[in-house]
Amino acid sequence: MIVLQHTCHWKDCKIKVVPSLWGCKQHWFILPSYIRNAIWQLYIPGQEVLKNPSKAYLMVAHETQDWIEQYQSKILSQDYQIAQKWRIQKIVIAHVALQKNKQSVG
Ligand SMILES: [Zn+2]
Repeated sequence: MIVLQHTCHWKDCKIKVVPSLWGCKQHWFILPSYIRNAIWQLYIPGQEVLKNPSKAYLMVAHETQDWIEQYQSKILSQDYQIAQKWRIQKIVIAHVALQKNKQSVG
């Protein structure tokens, strides 16, 4: 049996996690809840095998890396997070609308 694993997405973390998890427990819970919720909402089981994550997922993944960089540089601010939360909410809302549209057309 092949057990698929990947490395935690936290920069420089080498811990292996199962594909359905974004990263190791420690780093996952450092992320703000608005990021964790968005990742859960946009993650589709199997996307790491099919290599076809949605555009929205990739955008949020990019935002997450940006957050981590700010966090590690100790420049993370409340203002930055408020602005980012809005950006991510917009990404998720647009994604959900797109999915609904696809369903009604298909
Ligand atoms: Zn980690």
